[in-house]
Amino acid sequence: MAGGKVSLYPAGSGLTNILDDSAYIERKIKESAQVYEQNLQLKRHVNLPEMHEQAKSYYNGLGYEFKYYDAALYSQKDFFNVNQKFEEDFIRAGIEIRFNTMVTDIEIHDGRYIVHIFNKSNLEVLSCEKVILATGKSGHNLADKLSKKFGVESRAEKAEIGVRVEFPISAFPDIDKFHYDLKLKSGNCKTFCVSKGGKIALYYSDNLLYTEGYDDYKNPTSFTNLGILYKLDAENHDITTIIEDIILKRKNNGLIKPIRQTYFDFLNSIESNEFNYESSIKSWEKGDINEFLPNQISHRLRDEVKSFVSSFVHKDYRSRTSIFFPEMNYQKTSFKLAEDFQCLPNFYVIGEITGKFIGILQSFASGMICAETYKK
Ligand SMILES: Cc1cc2nc3c(=O)[nH]c(=O)nc-3n(C[C@H](O)[C@H](O)[C@H](O)COP(=O)(O)OP(=O)(O)OC[C@H]3O[C@@H](n4cnc5c(N)ncnc54)[C@H](O)[C@@H]3O)c2cc1C
Repeated sequence: MAGGKVSLYPAGSGLTNILDDSAYIERKIKESAQVYEQNLQLKRHVNLPEMHEQAKSYYNGLGYEFKYYDAALYSQKDFFNVNQKFEEDFIRAGIEIRFNTMVTDIEIHDGRYIVHIFNKSNLEVLSCEKVILATGKSGHNLADKLSKKFGVESRAEKAEIGVRVEFPISAFPDIDKFHYDLKLKSGNCKTFCVSKGGKIALYYSDNLLYTEGYDDYKNPTSFTNLGILYKLDAENHDITTIIEDIILKRKNNGLIKPIRQTYFDFLNSIESNEFNYESSIKSWEKGDINEFLPNQISHRLRDEVKSFVSSFVHKDYRSRTSIFFPEMNYQKTSFKLAEDFQCLPNFYVIGEITGKFIGILQSFASGMICAETYKK
């Protein structure tokens, strides 16, 4: 699942936590973009250096750090087609793909990996010489289990938690003037996955729904949404406790869908009873987002949302601005990996499930790097 844009290095600089060679990683992310670009049309910005400077001084003047990197849009249909083409290429190359099949466990016996798989009602066991684990965000329970069982886990060093802000597209029509994924930073808060003309994307993790952005430049909506996230680091926060508290409160209150508040109710910490304007999603829970966050984070996020909305969202649209919660970039455990993405001999972990980075091109690049060493 993905939201409509790809970003080049320094997006994905988290890969340097595995492989300490930023020039090589940058090249691999670029090559990943080229693979996509051979198969679909990426909509790119006019990348004039003077525009970056103009953007930098404009946003600096408003108290934000503006981070530039190349970002390009794709249409969702093209993206679907290209993934289908990759599948066909694999099958033609003699690779067997088992669809709708879940890996439930992996064991080690006599130097081989015993992989338990489940398809509809069939359980099967495969004996493998090599394993590449690439289960993405949705495979975090399996990753948690395996990393602990194999003694190769490392605790989360950082996480991001926050809200997704949505307003009519006309409220900030220039959001993509300088960059298709406007990245503004202010202290420990930042904007994330800007979706102009997009929808709020919902995805499940542990039976709860979380927000993200989605847009399709060939089929725009009348809304814009973006994440405003607070960065938790292990030095200053007990990350696991903060995140697990939020999950527990949601579960205890039966709040599966995201919580929605009007912009003003969010600032005033009041549950919103009704909305007299639309949103790109049709159902949500009522509640006060601030009750789910530690005080310090709730205050900081409110300040940041207020600062963003009052700087950029035209005043006529602030009463039609919604705040959704939670948006989260978090993985309980990640893997201790060598530079070739191995955590054990012949056991490789690539993509987002490594817990070190997120993103389409970054995950693709990790696969390319792993494949090159694997071939040797
Ligand atoms: C809503 C949303 C929008 C996003 N938008 C963007 C964007 O616009 N641009 C961007 O760069 N990134 C975006 N991301 C992030 C991006 O999608 C991921 O970083 C990237 O897809 C990770 O690639 P991956 O191959 O590691 O995992 P995935 O793409 O998640 O693929 C993992 C696959 O493994 C399968 N799987 C999971 N568990 C098991 C199991 N136990 N057994 C078998 N199979 C399993 C999953 O079903 C899935 O098919 C978005 C993420 C979300 C959730």
